[in-house]
Amino acid sequence: METCYFCRKGILEDKRVTVDFRWGSKLIVIEEVPAKVCNECGERYYSAEISREMDKIAIEGKREKVIEVPLVRLPTMPSAAA
Ligand SMILES: [Zn+2]
Repeated sequence: METCYFCRKGILEDKRVTVDFRWGSKLIVIEEVPAKVCNECGERYYSAEISREMDKIAIEGKREKVIEVPLVRLPTMPSAAA
């Protein structure tokens, strides 16, 4: 069994996940991505092959459908540091 490199205590499980993938100013959502997911911290690991495939999809601008996402800007707030 593989353990998580990130939290060092979780076990990695094979799953299919939905990835919100940012490519420059574009946001691409890719479904059914095979990944190893930590059962403790939720960290995801993708194989080199899968990463390349996601880059390719982003570069080619491949799309099956376009979804709408809400875009909201917070009203001006005092700085978090204040
Ligand atoms: Zn972990």
